[in-house]
Amino acid sequence: MRSRDCKIVATLGPSSDPPERMMMVIEAGVDCFRLNFSHGSKDEHAKRVATIREAERRIDTPIAIIADLQGPKLRVGDFVDGGVTLRYNDIVTLEASREPGDGSIIRLPHPEIIETLEEGDILKLDDGKMQLTIVGKKGKQREARVDFGGVLKNRKGVNVPSRRIPISALTEQDRDHLAFALDQGVDYIALSFVQSADDVREARALIGDRAKIISKIEKPAALDDLGEITQLSDAVMVARGDLGVELPPEQVPIAQRRIIRVARILGKPVIVATHMLESMIDAPTPTRAEASDVATAVYQGADAVMLSAESAVGRHPASAVAIMDRIIRAVESDPDHWSNLARDAARPEQTTADAIAQSAHAMAEVLDARKVVAYTATGSTALRLSRERPRCGIIGMTPRIETARQLCLAWGVTSVVTEDASDTEDMVTKAEACVRRLGAAGKDDRIVITAGVPFGRPGKTNMIRIVRLE
Ligand code: PEP
Repeated sequence: MRSRDCKIVATLGPSSDPPERMMMVIEAGVDCFRLNFSHGSKDEHAKRVATIREAERRIDTPIAIIADLQGPKLRVGDFVDGGVTLRYNDIVTLEASREPGDGSIIRLPHPEIIETLEEGDILKLDDGKMQLTIVGKKGKQREARVDFGGVLKNRKGVNVPSRRIPISALTEQDRDHLAFALDQGVDYIALSFVQSADDVREARALIGDRAKIISKIEKPAALDDLGEITQLSDAVMVARGDLGVELPPEQVPIAQRRIIRVARILGKPVIVATHMLESMIDAPTPTRAEASDVATAVYQGADAVMLSAESAVGRHPASAVAIMDRIIRAVESDPDHWSNLARDAARPEQTTADAIAQSAHAMAEVLDARKVVAYTATGSTALRLSRERPRCGIIGMTPRIETARQLCLAWGVTSVVTEDASDTEDMVTKAEACVRRLGAAGKDDRIVITAGVPFGRPGKTNMIRIVRLE
């Protein structure tokens, strides 16, 4: 059992795909793998899923898989010469066409975008390396001034921070990838460029209960609708890559803090992603600033921190995971961390589930219990306990492997697949055996158990039991 509460998500790619490499990455501390559908073929993703499931069998521990869909990433079209040099103050024309552009014409093969652009709108090109401001309209064309230039190559990304783009968060390609990922049995679908709660509703209608939904918060429009988007999602991601293009850099830490706070209040797992240990793509150790960035996310109470290029294409994927693991453990051994978490604790809602979660947490504190053991079918009791951030951590015992995998993303939850308890005595016996097997508690230690009576009915948690191990 891992003695750490904040979880680690690692993105797979050529550096971590070979089974023996993937095993090293898992042993270094990964709880959850991300498949990035912006890169790689379906065949490659299917092989990754098979390798993860095989590793899961070998280590007898659930691992969650996230399929991250590309979403409506806007891109410029091609250029006759493969690219164009944009110079400060030049005026260029934007046109909706799939034909290649030339020196002064940039093709943007998204008519719906061009039509929404008004004077004063800003376009960020190639992850914000270049910037244009719209200065005029000519029928279906737009004129733009170059604010900062550079060489713009074919198919580079375009961000329009000031506009809610009138397109769905699921493109045709996403729908195809989604059907494939669901067939592969992934646990989470991550939606990119979510702009409104309707985007989440649309995805939910397609996904149903076949996977959980993570909304990636990377558009200012999503920040305007953050509460409802988070409420409708199963988890959220602070996707700082695109968020940092759409927002001025000084706004990103403020957005991060707000997203974590909202997710913690609503009891939804929150992942902090992108550029966490960026220098480790090449270097064997992180910079001090990167270590500090990971630590900040942990202090803020994030459920998980994520590696992208570091584990997908970097030179040291297992070391990057091991260093994240060390940073998390260091923060979690700081007494200040626990007083911060308690200070920012979310208040219980007026439900049986929260009454049980808050009481189990309080009992565990008073008794210095080793674990709260939650019998959970859908995972919801374990998530409400996780929202409490109890210092002793939680064991989620569930008969469903899908639930066990999904809980891998939740702060402080170790998930274990077990048959449902048949009666109270069996409940205690199974919980005791589980904590002993995991080395979480021994003779004379106390544990707090939550369960639902009658047993075997989801959504019925209504009991707390304190047990002293013999
Ligand atoms: C991000 O933008 O931070 C992110 C996680 O998304 P992607 O890696 O798909 O750009």
